[in-house]
Amino acid sequence: MRFDVLTLFPEIIQNYCDVSIMKRAKDAHVFEVNTINPRDFTLDKHKKVDDTPYGGGAGMVLAPQPFVDAYESIKKEENSVTVMLSPQGEPLNEDLVCELSSYSQVIMLCGHYEGFDERIREIIKPKEISLGDFVLTGGELPALCLLDAVSRKIEGTLGKIESAHEDSFSNGLLEYPQYTKPRDFRGYVVPDVLLNGNHKEIAQYRLEQQIERTKIRRPDLYKKYLDKIN
Ligand code: SAM
Repeated sequence: MRFDVLTLFPEIIQNYCDVSIMKRAKDAHVFEVNTINPRDFTLDKHKKVDDTPYGGGAGMVLAPQPFVDAYESIKKEENSVTVMLSPQGEPLNEDLVCELSSYSQVIMLCGHYEGFDERIREIIKPKEISLGDFVLTGGELPALCLLDAVSRKIEGTLGKIESAHEDSFSNGLLEYPQYTKPRDFRGYVVPDVLLNGNHKEIAQYRLEQQIERTKIRRPDLYKKYLDKIN
């Protein structure tokens, strides 16, 4: 799998991908991360990538030429998808993460300042994805969230792919409570059922906890879960 990130700040992407699980997976060639900087494609001698908005208003708008040329320089694989990180897009969730993990190439466009000149959208026609109903200064954090979440679905990123299968949302529910040693911490003890070695009972206990937790914390997900099992 390959991620191509179009960004004016490639170091944000590279730095994140150079530590911990991301680095291990990248070094093991589970996936590849390339950054493309539209500033390298500008025809302006001052390497300007933005300009003031037509019609007036605050801030600077990302100009179409450097972004479209940078995008067109990327070699597209047959099974590739292009995503624009935007607060106006479809909110990112587990279903979308799974869908994106089925592509062999995910190209991501990160905005900055006041965002993209509309013609970048019109020409590239990306899938627009949002991290939520709030506005960040740039698309790099949302791109990294997407890259991280999608890469966890690829065999080889996590030590055991089952870890991802048991996470919150994978079966439509939040994850059950987790415990590690010591058994007793300040009088708070680990439930006995987790110590008895009976895998069937442990699985039953965990499912009950998942259902209870989801019902209390995320009634919206709980309702979907009930609709699915009934
Ligand atoms: N003026 C734009 C608007 O109101 O829709 C917001 C521009 S924002 C300051 C700059 C860039 O950050 C955007 O182009 C986008 O790439 C990124 N961004 C900001 N908030 C985001 C969010 N919630 N989800 C995804 N990307 C976001």
